[in-house]
Amino acid sequence: MKSENMSNGLTILVVDDEESIREGSERILARMGYHVYKASQGSEGLEILNDHPVSIVLLDLKMPGMDGMEVLGHIQKLNPEILVIIITGYATLETAIEAMKQGAYDFIPKPFEPDQLRIVINRARERIRLAGETERLAQERQRNLADLSTEKSRIRTIVESLPNGVLVTNVQGQVALMNPAFQWLTGIEARDVTGESIETCIQDRGLCQMIQDISTGNALSLPATYEFTTVGEKYLLASGRPVLGDDGECLGAVVNLVDITAMKVLDRLKSEFVAKVSHELRSPLSTIHEQLALVLKDMVEKESSRDQYLISRAKEKTLGLISLIGDLLDLSRIEAGNVCLECKPVKLDELLKSIVDFMTTRASAKNQRLDLVLPDALFPTISADPRALESIFGNLITNAINYTPDGGAIEVRLYLSPDDVQPTHIRIDIRDNGFGIEARDLDNIFKRFYRVKNEKTRFITGTGLGLPIVKGLLDELKGDIQVQSEPARGSTFSVFLPLAVSE
Ligand code: ADP
Repeated sequence: MKSENMSNGLTILVVDDEESIREGSERILARMGYHVYKASQGSEGLEILNDHPVSIVLLDLKMPGMDGMEVLGHIQKLNPEILVIIITGYATLETAIEAMKQGAYDFIPKPFEPDQLRIVINRARERIRLAGETERLAQERQRNLADLSTEKSRIRTIVESLPNGVLVTNVQGQVALMNPAFQWLTGIEARDVTGESIETCIQDRGLCQMIQDISTGNALSLPATYEFTTVGEKYLLASGRPVLGDDGECLGAVVNLVDITAMKVLDRLKSEFVAKVSHELRSPLSTIHEQLALVLKDMVEKESSRDQYLISRAKEKTLGLISLIGDLLDLSRIEAGNVCLECKPVKLDELLKSIVDFMTTRASAKNQRLDLVLPDALFPTISADPRALESIFGNLITNAINYTPDGGAIEVRLYLSPDDVQPTHIRIDIRDNGFGIEARDLDNIFKRFYRVKNEKTRFITGTGLGLPIVKGLLDELKGDIQVQSEPARGSTFSVFLPLAVSE
């Protein structure tokens, strides 16, 4: 006969002295898919339990020899997880209740219908399933807790042994975590600072301000960065981000601190080396250039045009080298922080006019228009170093001329931020309708020696140092530069100069 197969692989033992009950139960249970053992006496049943794994026992209370209650006691001792279902006649109902008190799981009155047995057995099976599930969940929970605690201690060990400083604050600017490297780098004595406000443990006001700005959502850009030096002559770079909650709310800040002293020293050594070599090369190159100019002058009547061409190429190349050396020296000075800006009141309109006048000859040689557009309104005199401004605008206008084809147009326009009631900056745009710059190059053009190489720019000589010099000088002047460009349509470089006095 086909089994109903609901057994979940469970095994049942029927202990009853009545053969009809044993056989009848076996038939019903086997049909449900259970494996069934039978015993006509208590002692025989206990032997089976000793030798085989059994989940449910159907146990008659009234049997000759060892009675059901005694068998129940032994089963409880042997394995309390076995579910015992008492089979009882009406006359012994009270004993059945007693048996339940002693730990039997359920009872079924005799005689019973197949459905009654099925219901009781299904209930027991469900109980076994739930007990198994509970056990599994308990084990899983135990495992998760164990995993969690190892994970936690693992993360703690990693954070504690990181060479970089790590600081986490809450939204009130109190320390939630500060690793030993952070304390060591910033010179905080080794102790637990959890819960202390950052102002009490961090000396550098700028760093505290940055952390405060991040926590309150006032950081201008993310990750916010801040470079500073410590008493022990260490150069440190802090970069921080907000810690965000599920709804995007700020819960605090996390700051990473790196010791960049070695990088700084290397950078300084490199700048010093470049400055030294450039300085040594400048005078002999200038002499060669002057002598080539003399040779070229003498050659005019006598030599062949090919020789003249070669000498003039050599003269051009030395001029290129002299200009490269000049740029390298300027950049080294800016990077070493050795530019002595002599800020004085500057009438920007007059200064721009003289630069544009000077450059007009160059633009005219390429049939280009070079216009200066000044605002109608009066604008204030700014305080800046005029030589730095000449270098900035000289470089930008030279680039506009170089990277615009013959016949193009260049415009230098001065704005006094018309939208602002109290403007903080003056803006000067240098706009051309030249070759333009691809988006992928825009991020790189302010890097040292970066030059865009394409069909249009290939033959234009340059050093790739002009824009880094412009950027460096503007940083010194507390100004800024932005660029917008479209290939084949042109570029606009916007220079921002502060109206406040630059010290
Ligand atoms: P250089 O002009 O000596 O190559 P710069 O640092 O001044 O070096 O400029 C870097 C690069 O940026 C240039 O090589 C050029 O490709 C690009 N560039 C600068 N200004 C312009 C401009 N106005 N139009 C198009 N490209 C420009």
